[in-house]
Amino acid sequence: MSILKEGCPGSAEIRNPYPEELKCVFCGQTNEIWSDEPEMNCKGCGKLIDRKMKPSCVEWCPAAKECVGLEKYERLMRARSKE
Ligand SMILES: [Zn+2]
Repeated sequence: MSILKEGCPGSAEIRNPYPEELKCVFCGQTNEIWSDEPEMNCKGCGKLIDRKMKPSCVEWCPAAKECVGLEKYERLMRARSKE
């Protein structure tokens, strides 16, 4: 088994981000947000909009820091702690 070497499937969207649609709750503008971004400023009204991140193995995996990188790990943890 070499799961840790290649990274586990659960963190794939963090390691290889893809664009997702996020609708602004203030003005209804549809924004594009990367799958590893917990929040962004709306293109329409400029307000900060955030979303619930999907539950991720990054939260509990002991190898998460090495898996997704320390910078992303800390940003995700900050976003989680606001909920
Ligand atoms: Zn907006």
